[in-house]
Amino acid sequence: TAPIHVVGGGLAGSEAAWQIAQAGVPVVIHEMRPVRGTPAHQTDKLAELVCSNSFRADDWAGNAVGLLHAEMRKLGSIIMASGDAHQVPAGGALAVDREGFSAAVTEKLLSHPLVTVSREEVAGLPPAEWDSVIVATGPLTSPALSEAILELTGEGQLAFFDAIAPIVHLESIDMDVAWRQSRYDKEGPGGDAAAYINCPMSREQYEAFIDALLAGEKSEFKDWEQVPYFDGCLPIEVMAERGRETLRHGPMKPVGLTNIHKPDEKPWAVVQLRQDNALGTLWNMVGFQTKLKHGAQTEIFRTIPGLEKAVFARLGGLHRNTFINSPRLLDRQLRMKAQPRLRFAGQVTGVEGYVESAAVGLLAGRFAAAERLGRPIDPPPVTTALGALIGHITGGHLDAGAGSFQPMNINYGLLPPIAPPKRAEDGRRLGAKEKSRIKKRLVGERALADLETWVNGASTLAAAE
Ligand code: FAD
Repeated sequence: TAPIHVVGGGLAGSEAAWQIAQAGVPVVIHEMRPVRGTPAHQTDKLAELVCSNSFRADDWAGNAVGLLHAEMRKLGSIIMASGDAHQVPAGGALAVDREGFSAAVTEKLLSHPLVTVSREEVAGLPPAEWDSVIVATGPLTSPALSEAILELTGEGQLAFFDAIAPIVHLESIDMDVAWRQSRYDKEGPGGDAAAYINCPMSREQYEAFIDALLAGEKSEFKDWEQVPYFDGCLPIEVMAERGRETLRHGPMKPVGLTNIHKPDEKPWAVVQLRQDNALGTLWNMVGFQTKLKHGAQTEIFRTIPGLEKAVFARLGGLHRNTFINSPRLLDRQLRMKAQPRLRFAGQVTGVEGYVESAAVGLLAGRFAAAERLGRPIDPPPVTTALGALIGHITGGHLDAGAGSFQPMNINYGLLPPIAPPKRAEDGRRLGAKEKSRIKKRLVGERALADLETWVNGASTLAAAE
C-alpha cells in the first residue's frame, strides 16, 4: 500500500499518523523541526505543547472537553494515552508533564513499524505524486507552505495572536504568603485537593496591580487592533482594559479559597499557579497570558504577594495563529474541495486547543486510512463531541462571508441539546443548576452511546484495532 503523508508532527499530525498506522496503512510524517523552527516550539519532539500543560477538564459528564477526552480514549488516541500516562496534579483538569508527554508520543510513533518520520519542511504544495496528504502544520505553519495554500485557495488567510503565560520556579515563591489549595478543594486525578498555589491580594494591592497593567509597556503590533480575540485566552492587560473588575471576576477571582495564613481575611483577588512539570519545580501563572514587554512583566508580577522574589523560567509572550476558511474550503471528510488529495487537520482548520487539534487529527487520520483501504467512512454523528467539532469546521457557515468563521474550542453549544427532566426521581422540582448538571450528563451519555454505534457500524477500522 502506498503511504499517506502527514505534514506536521504536532498534536494533530501525531494523532493522525497513529490512527493511520493502527489501521494498517503506512504513513510518513514530515516534520520540519529541528531543521526549521517555529516562533513557539523549543524542542524537536513530536506533539510538543507550546504553552500551557493542561488538556483542561477531564469530566465527561460535566464538561465538553472532558467528553472529547472520553471519546478520543475510546478510539485509541495516542495523545490521550500519553497524556494519561504522564499526568500531573491539576484539580479537576488533566494536566501533563510536558517533556514526558511529548517524549512518549515521539517514542511510540518512532517505534511503530508502519511510521516513518522525515525531518524536512514541506516548503510549498506537497508533490503531486503524494496522492493522500494530511496538512497538519498548525497555527505556525511555515510561510512557504501558507503562501502555497493561499495561492491554491485564493481565500484570505486570517492571522491573529495568542498569548503565553509566564512560568515561575517553585523555590522562588514565598510560601509564607502563598498557599496550596484547589478551588473548593476539588480533588484532581491523583486525589490532590491542593493542586494550585494561590497568591492573595488586598483591595489596595489589586488596584495598584491594575494600574500597573494598564500603564505597563506592551509589545507593539501594527495589526493588533484587528486581532479577533477569542474569550478564554485574552491577555491580562486587555482584560484589565475592559474593566477594572474584569480580572477579579476572571482568572483572579477569589472564590472557593481560604488563605491558610490569614483564615479570617477574605482576599480581594487571588493569582493562581498550576504545576507545570512532573517534578513540581515549575509553576505557571493561570490565565496570565500577556503581551507586556519582558521587563514590565518581571516588574509588575513581582508586586504580587508571594512572588516578590519570583524567578521566571519563562515569561509571557505572543504568537500568530493561521487557519483556513474551512466551511468554504473543506468537505465533511476534511478534504480540500479544490484538491481532494489534500486533507487538513488540527488548529489550521479552525479549531482551538491541544485536545481539539488532536481530535481533528484523529478523524482526518481515520478518514484517510479508510479511504486508502477502499472502505470510506462517514463522520461521527453531531451528537458526539467529535461530530460536533467536524460540524463546526465544515458545516453551518457556508453562507457566511469570509472572515466570519472563527476558531472555537469544543463546547456544549455545538452539540444538540437534551431537555432535562422537570422533576427529580423523588418528585421534587429541580433547580436550574441541577438541571444543567443533568443535561450535561445526558448529553455525555448520548454521545458515548452514539460513538459506540458509529465505531461498530460505520467504522470498518474497528476490526483492524
Ligand atoms: P502544532 O502542534 O503546532 O503542530 C504543527 C507542526 O507542524 C509543528 O510541529 C511544526 O513544526 C510543523 N510544521 C509547520 N509547517 C511545516 C512545514 N511546512 N513542513 C513541515 N512541518 C511543518 N492550545 C491549548 O489548548 N492550550 C494552550 O495553552 C495553547 N497555547 C498556545 C500557544 C501558542 C504560542 C500557540 C501558537 C498556540 C497555542 N494553543 C494552545 C493552540 C493550539 O492548540 C496548539 O498550537 C496546538 O499545538 C495545535 O496543534 P496542531 O497539531 O494543529 O499544530
